[in-house]
Amino acid sequence: MGSWFQRPTPEFIKITAPQTREVRDRIPKDLWHKCPNCGAIITRKDFKANLSVCPACGRHERISAMDRIQQLVDEGSFKENNASLRATDPLNFVDKRKYSESLEAARKKTGLNDSLVSGTAHIGGVEVSLGVMDFAFMGGSMGSVLGEKVTRAMELSIERRIPCITVTSTGGARMQEGILSLMQMAKTSILCAELEQAGIPFISILADPSTAGVMASFASLGDVIIAEPGAYVGFAGKRVIEQTINKVLPADFQTSEFQREHGFVDMVVERARLRKTLIVLLRQLMAMPPIPLEEEEGSDSQVVVGKA
Ligand SMILES: [Zn+2]
Repeated sequence: MGSWFQRPTPEFIKITAPQTREVRDRIPKDLWHKCPNCGAIITRKDFKANLSVCPACGRHERISAMDRIQQLVDEGSFKENNASLRATDPLNFVDKRKYSESLEAARKKTGLNDSLVSGTAHIGGVEVSLGVMDFAFMGGSMGSVLGEKVTRAMELSIERRIPCITVTSTGGARMQEGILSLMQMAKTSILCAELEQAGIPFISILADPSTAGVMASFASLGDVIIAEPGAYVGFAGKRVIEQTINKVLPADFQTSEFQREHGFVDMVVERARLRKTLIVLLRQLMAMPPIPLEEEEGSDSQVVVGKA
């Protein structure tokens, strides 16, 4: 008898069997990622392996502070500091709910104590002081804890004479702390000036979104300002500005690319090339010889700041 007359294999039967509720429930619900920009669907695993960038349209999704650190630093080199700093509620602020309750919910959701993770690490063998924001913690807002952690990260840079890097993803100041949050703008800006006086490089990386009080302070004061493609970068919202000046603004207003064209951002760098770019930059800034970069990190050995 020919093989076509044999019974189907058990695997075949399994695939064509009607899906019972039990089988459907066994498929994890968060297995797939659908791009909100182009609708492309890929598995979460592949999406994460692609650094949370859509392979179809290149949209850079927001990522957690810990994922960001993992993508940027030499493996196993990150040492977190000041992790236990926690905000208090000095104004006993209440909007939809108590500020203290919002804080508690954000801590539970993210596993962090506030919206910035700081520490030291090596990037391409260069020791750096690092501060990375997490948008998932109350919109990456800047309160007194974030201001203090950025300040301490910069002080550590000066003390150890190592470069400072911040990655911002923020809607601005944390209004629940009132004037205390706005004071962080002055506090962090002073440290940027001190870094400059000490001759220590400060690299500011702008992820989506980088706006308002953070943008109007340390995020815009980097010696080198790098932005991710398509990130929302600006101070006030587009509609607010249009209403104020009574003019229609261009469609790409307040994107990374627009800001680079107008000289505010030095470089727009894809996430896949960010680590490699930092390695080249850091070694140039610290007058260290270039190192051969891994294949997947590209082969360029020169980064020209200020050119498209
Ligand atoms: Zn897409």
